Amino acid sequence: MASLLERPLRAAILAAADNATVQRAVSRYGMRLGARRFVAGERAEDFLDVTQSLNRDGFCVACGILGEGVKDATEAEDATEQYCAMLRTFAQRGMDANVAFKLTHVGLDIDPNLAYENAARIAQTARDGGNTMRLDMEQSRYVDATLATYRRLCGRFDNVGFVMQSYLYRSVDDLTSMLPLQPNVRLVKGAYLEPPDVAYSSKSDVDANYMRLAEIALTNPGYTAIATHDPKIVDAVEAIIKRERLPLRGRFEFQLLYGIGAPLAQRLVRNGYRVRLAVPYGNYWFPYLMRRLAERPANLAFFLKGALGRS
Ligand SMILES: Cc1cc2nc3c(=O)[nH]c(=O)nc-3n(C[C@H](O)[C@H](O)[C@H](O)COP(=O)(O)OP(=O)(O)OC[C@H]3O[C@@H](n4cnc5c(N)ncnc54)[C@H](O)[C@@H]3O)c2cc1C
Repeated sequence: MASLLERPLRAAILAAADNATVQRAVSRYGMRLGARRFVAGERAEDFLDVTQSLNRDGFCVACGILGEGVKDATEAEDATEQYCAMLRTFAQRGMDANVAFKLTHVGLDIDPNLAYENAARIAQTARDGGNTMRLDMEQSRYVDATLATYRRLCGRFDNVGFVMQSYLYRSVDDLTSMLPLQPNVRLVKGAYLEPPDVAYSSKSDVDANYMRLAEIALTNPGYTAIATHDPKIVDAVEAIIKRERLPLRGRFEFQLLYGIGAPLAQRLVRNGYRVRLAVPYGNYWFPYLMRRLAERPANLAFFLKGALGRS
């Protein structure tokens, strides 16, 4: 979350994420100049190479194929098939990796039922390989549909998860209402630009709400993914884990984004925790990159330095 001074810059970067001209300019050179820090590459083979090496270092992986806001059913179908193919590859090669995807990538903007059917296909393929999948959480306008889809999937599958964002006022109520399902939830702070009537804007409020959600999730049955690069949150969560005497495996894991917080991730693996890195790949990396730059506007300086140094 950005500090007071960083907030306007954060808003400007996130607004640029929707700007076609910026997108064209950055997409031309971005992968070469700096996107590769956060993205495994544009091809599935790039992703599989990175994942194999991370598995060797003791990390498990969440595969994200970059894409969102799909408006065409064939494209949604194609994304679904790519996720299924990736899950089959994980099973064939014995890789420690699952998938996480956005419902708008598999058709939510076209028809919620299409998105559900595609998500169910991915869940079935994951289950056939003894694996899991997770629905990412997008902008607040998608929360109701995403939670409804998660509930529907839970009626048929026990290998699916979802995400709660601590910047949203509603999240404590949403998580509480999910408790009877013994949910598999990933907790995040939230990566989008949200108005003050739906989301906290100060880091201290977002962090305090994150800890409220962590307390609820970790003290009730289910599985919790603590997804953050914030060492203070990690310390506070470790205190809950010790207090509740939670086993190292089976109740929770830590998650970080590929390219961010490597020393923290390594420390957590050394301490015996299960640590999953979310590794994205694909051509459509521009909005993902913009969200990573917005989270820490200092990243913009590195990115621009790369651009100026090489042009
Ligand atoms: C595995 C995973 C999955 C996620 N899935 C979703 C999702 O489905 N929906 C969603 O809205 N959001 C998602 N996010 C993003 C999340 O909401 C935050 O935007 C992001 O994690 C930054 O918040 P933070 O918890 O690291 O805390 P912050 O308070 O933002 O940062 C804490 C510290 O982490 C480091 N840091 C944070 N971000 C960066 C960065 N970009 N570059 C360099 N250093 C950084 C800095 O040292 C910073 O001081 C996900 C995050 C993770 C780790």
